[in-house]
Amino acid sequence: MSEFTNSSLKVLFSAAQVQERIQEMGARITRDYQGKSLALVCVLKGASLFTADLMRAIDLPLTVDFIAVSSYGAASKSSGEVRILKDLDTSLKGRDVLVVEDIVDTGLTLNYLLDNFRRRDAASVQVAALLDKPERRLATVDVAYIGFTIPNEFVVGYGLDYAERYRNLPFVAILQPND
Ligand code: 5GP
Repeated sequence: MSEFTNSSLKVLFSAAQVQERIQEMGARITRDYQGKSLALVCVLKGASLFTADLMRAIDLPLTVDFIAVSSYGAASKSSGEVRILKDLDTSLKGRDVLVVEDIVDTGLTLNYLLDNFRRRDAASVQVAALLDKPERRLATVDVAYIGFTIPNEFVVGYGLDYAERYRNLPFVAILQPND
């Protein structure tokens, strides 16, 4: 069976720490996007909890839309090829787009998405990511808003899954294989 069949969780950021950081990020985004046409784009499924909390921490008129993508290749590795499983329902033309991501790992998924959104004539495209794992970066991506920078560990919780589990945890934890 998988290396994570008998696994334990080590809390990296508590629910309170996550919420506090999101309030700070929301306050900064509120300042930066005054007078702009803010369009949040949530990358499903991992960023769903982050988006729900972040949008409530932003004190501005905004819209939210959802996109689902999948990377080809092994389950927890990115090959760089991205497939859109569910596209946005709304146009990004002239909008100030803020892509909301759970985690930036290799950066390949974001790289593809940013390119794709810029070609839809957005006025601007920036990224808010809850977690950043810079050690694994393969593509250069400019992430304007980062919640926490983390070491090269596999994390779950607060939207992030392993085999679709753990998304409902209110905290972020490292999933550690037991021997
Ligand atoms: P990237 O294209 O940056 O390598 O991959 C980004 C996607 O891989 C994230 O949106 C996330 O779905 C997944 N991912 C990367 N690192 C982790 C991790 O530590 N835990 C989980 N659950 N997913 C991850």
